Amino acid sequence: LAPETKSFIAKEQKLLIGGQWKDAGSDALIDVINPADGNRISGIGDATEADIDQAVDTARAAFESGAWPEMKPGERSRVIHKIADLMETHAEELAQLETLDNGKPINFARGDVFASIGAFRYYAGWADKIQGTTHTINLPGDHHVYTLKEPVGVVALIVPWNYPLVMAAMKLGPALAAGCTAILKPAEDTSLSALRLGELALEAGLPEGVLNIVTGYGHTVGNALINHPGIDKIAFTGSTATGKIIAHAAAENLTKVTLELGGKSPNIIMSDADLEKAIPASAMGIFFNSGQTCTAPSRIYVHEDIKDEVIAGIAAVGKSMNLANGLDEESTMGPLVSAKQFERVSAYIAEGQKEGANIASGGVRHGESGYFLEPTVIDQTRNDMTIVQEEIFGPVVVAQSFKTEEEALALANDTQYGLAGAVWTPNISTAHRMVGKIKAGIMCINAVMGADWDVPLGGYKQSGIGQENGKDGLENYLNTKTVFTAL
Ligand code: ADP
Repeated sequence: LAPETKSFIAKEQKLLIGGQWKDAGSDALIDVINPADGNRISGIGDATEADIDQAVDTARAAFESGAWPEMKPGERSRVIHKIADLMETHAEELAQLETLDNGKPINFARGDVFASIGAFRYYAGWADKIQGTTHTINLPGDHHVYTLKEPVGVVALIVPWNYPLVMAAMKLGPALAAGCTAILKPAEDTSLSALRLGELALEAGLPEGVLNIVTGYGHTVGNALINHPGIDKIAFTGSTATGKIIAHAAAENLTKVTLELGGKSPNIIMSDADLEKAIPASAMGIFFNSGQTCTAPSRIYVHEDIKDEVIAGIAAVGKSMNLANGLDEESTMGPLVSAKQFERVSAYIAEGQKEGANIASGGVRHGESGYFLEPTVIDQTRNDMTIVQEEIFGPVVVAQSFKTEEEALALANDTQYGLAGAVWTPNISTAHRMVGKIKAGIMCINAVMGADWDVPLGGYKQSGIGQENGKDGLENYLNTKTVFTAL
């Protein structure tokens, strides 16, 4: 570990409120556990309601002072770029924190840091390109009608533990570019990289109170935030169950919400698919990040003629993965994020067996310490099984075969989720026809995952409300004010 990583985790973490690091109101720290070995590596603050009140008041004061929303947009852009510069300088340390906290292989953590820097740079570029519109209208007389784009105000950003830094950057980038002030709540399992980001943001010259970071549990700290009348907007990424709690809370004050929720994304492999590409991509799609990716292609529907080859191929990729402590440069798959998540995923595998599915490979713990689970392929599933309907969020893919395109589409759409999906076939007519019929927000053809900061991303059905990334992502943090002028 780099000396700066060691010294960062050696200290007890605090909350960032009003540009100051302060102890949480409750004395008890929450243990930060390294999922690769189960050892405690640090402690984070458990914020109280009084801390949340203070963070919201501070964010409000910072917003009303105009120090950030009224800063010249080019200047705001420079501060956001400066955050990205400092992240570059400290990239290895951020990656190490991510691996220690989340468990992911260091090489993937480096990729996450790189992507997070990209989010800040991308949205830094938007800060001085925020535009309203002008309108010619039909009313009698002369009018000048235009729209203004104004920052929404104080935003609560609640992020999950699967891509901690990326998720923070994905929300913070556009919120800051728009001129909002923010309270960031990282997940209780993975708060370290966000806290280090807070230090870098202050160093970059972000005015006091623009970014506040509160740590603690979802049902306490998260709950206080989503019910706080001082919050203008909640942006959340996490489970559909928690998304519903947030939507309920937001209804009270009609707080605006963007929700990026769960998925159970169908991956349809047609009989003419290029299996040399489809097999490794489908395997990596579900095993990458130990399956803890909301858009993971977690349900395979494979044409009956090629079923055995595909299942065996995906299982072989799973077996070839190097399950090891993420700090090991050779690791290609880390542990699950926590003991709780390990139990949850294992319970799903047991449930699948009880329901009559076949564990084609994996399904068991790997090694003696930490929360490693072998890449798991479950076949002979049916759509009425729990393991096919619920999001497992682990390295577990469920598979079944189909005979016709119609059958594949019906199976793919038989879900409460609508986040992502994939179709494998060289026939472009078939591919586009099928993509048009699948009810999901992100579709791939001859690929399983794609993302870029410029490309909007959001879920259909119970996978979310609203879009993130791209210009749509920026719009989440802007209000439109219409101005009528009689001339
Ligand atoms: P998981 O159950 O897999 O941990 P969640 O969707 O519950 O996923 O967690 C995502 C984020 O939402 C975390 O930061 C968590 O603390 C937060 N959270 C969980 N429950 C609530 C809640 N009731 N209100 C607000 N935030 C919550």
